[in-house]
Amino acid sequence: MFLKGCLMTIKNADRLGDILVGKNIISASQLTTALAEQQRRRENEQDKKSFQNTVLGEILIELGYIDRLQLKRGLNWQSLVRKLTAAMALCAPLMCISPVATAASSSSSSAPKASLPLTIQAESYTSMFGVQIENTLDVGGGKAVGYIHNGDWISFSGTSVNIPVTDTYKITYRVASPTGGGSFTLKESNGTLSYDTVSIPSTGGFQTWGNVVKVVTLPAGTHSFLITNMVRGSGYNINWFKIESIPKPSSSSSSKSSSSVKSSVKSSSSSASVKSSLVAGVVNLQWKTPTKRENLNQLDITELGGYELRYRKVSDELFTYVTINDPWTNYYYFPWLEGAYIFQVAAFDKEGLYSQFIDLIPR
Ligand code: CA
Repeated sequence: MFLKGCLMTIKNADRLGDILVGKNIISASQLTTALAEQQRRRENEQDKKSFQNTVLGEILIELGYIDRLQLKRGLNWQSLVRKLTAAMALCAPLMCISPVATAASSSSSSAPKASLPLTIQAESYTSMFGVQIENTLDVGGGKAVGYIHNGDWISFSGTSVNIPVTDTYKITYRVASPTGGGSFTLKESNGTLSYDTVSIPSTGGFQTWGNVVKVVTLPAGTHSFLITNMVRGSGYNINWFKIESIPKPSSSSSSKSSSSVKSSVKSSSSSASVKSSLVAGVVNLQWKTPTKRENLNQLDITELGGYELRYRKVSDELFTYVTINDPWTNYYYFPWLEGAYIFQVAAFDKEGLYSQFIDLIPR
């Protein structure tokens, strides 16, 4: 009985509205008004189309009851309470007897270490500041993290990752941004080591998703990560990030290098053979659908899964990747780019086999 009472108290405590009332930021009657408005919008066809319109925090701002900073603080408290609730639910038998035992048993020593390849969902954070979870229209659906503003952070301190050896690893960040310009830093969750700084490209919209692929050196051992120093730019969302080993090139794959010199641009030193373009403004790219896979097998349009566009400044080492999950398009544009750039595109089939990357010259 006692235990049940305990859990019920915790369950009610993690609702944003209740937290804001508990902190005397809004009154109980303001919460009632906002919840009624939320209910009205959920039943309204026009409002239902926009997820944001029905989020309680946004309604509280619209009604003038709170400002955005208060919302962020409220969401941060909510996150902490939820974290505590999860830890307590796991340790329910101990919880009402000894809070000391609860704290001890939720330490990371008991957490399983995930091994590579590993996809970490952005919304599976352990704690955060300032962001919100929302539904995503990305492939596979589910949730993603949005409402990112300058100085926000997302900690995955509860997700232990086992890095087998000190080496370079491929990290794919799944992001969406209308016109790019944002960034963040990937760090060890305790903030000690910085591993990567990611610039968010334009993917064309908050629900138009693309991959930013980076090669990052990670030290051997057990790690957990922190996405921090977030800069909003034009705004962006994160769905997940994936860490995987980079397959070492075998001698057989390098022997077929005669097929195309242009595909071997991964090392920037060989960039002499790559076509670069000086651009300033809107960049329009168009391509002919490749007809052969990388292994030179014929590739038919009906077998296509989509395209991977990659681009980098001539002075940069790494490409930024944009995945286009539409085999029937042959066109992509950037609203604004300035400088000397290299643009390339490859097709991939429904099994994930790629064509060669071909150079693109903007129209
Ligand atoms: Ca997700």
